[in-house]
Amino acid sequence: MKKLIICCALTGSLPTKEQNPHVPITPDEIVADALAVYQAGASIVHIHARDAQGKNCHDRGIFQEIHTKLKAQAPELIVQLSTGGRAGQGFDSRNACLFSNPEMASLCTGSTNFPTGIYANDMELVIQLAEMMKQRNIKPELEIFDTNMVGAAVTLEQMGLLQPPLYFDFVMGGRNGQSADIRQLGYLVSMLPAGSQWCASGIAANQVNTMLMAIAAGGHVRVGLEDNLYLRRGVKATNVELVERVVRIASEVNREIATPAEARAMLGL
Ligand code: MG
Repeated sequence: MKKLIICCALTGSLPTKEQNPHVPITPDEIVADALAVYQAGASIVHIHARDAQGKNCHDRGIFQEIHTKLKAQAPELIVQLSTGGRAGQGFDSRNACLFSNPEMASLCTGSTNFPTGIYANDMELVIQLAEMMKQRNIKPELEIFDTNMVGAAVTLEQMGLLQPPLYFDFVMGGRNGQSADIRQLGYLVSMLPAGSQWCASGIAANQVNTMLMAIAAGGHVRVGLEDNLYLRRGVKATNVELVERVVRIASEVNREIATPAEARAMLGL
């Protein structure tokens, strides 16, 4: 079976130090955690920016600081920056991370009712972000919160805005999103254009079962404190521990871990 790409979503928009003291918030904390999960087996790090108060933000300067520091210390690690919407809406806000020219960036192709409000991704915005990524040779990580978003990604490919192989991240088990269910995963995979690569990320207590399904089905895995704060019930995780658990389980079923170079070859970077 193909090698396993592990992406670690280090920070996200919502987690706080009060919820889990191991969440990296400052640029230096994020860089240090990225280097640690790379040593543990991650080949991609998914990164959000926080401001000086720890609030999530779309600040070009903070994204640039993180990206520059990280590339200086681990040039081979694949950096994926977030265009996610919790820090503000609109193209001029959402595109902030793209000015750093990361190798990858997230691109959600539809809208979702998050518990705290609508995560609005109308097609005009999605197309604008995809165009900017294409111009800058940034590979989208297509974030899929529900089935309809796969079809929107296929539309973008038909418009010439995405280059195969497409790379999908199925976010599963979040409130109001698709369930972390093997039938749902099977249906999503069945919808993908030939040659696509995919990973799955389970939210909160769904992180483990989602990761197990993805490893068994030949997908890739995203874990990290953005999606899940606990290692097990009552035990707060570190990003490194979450990555180490994937490596342990994968080794039991002979899924070797991809290096960043091997991940690049699979994703067409
Ligand atoms: Mg994110």
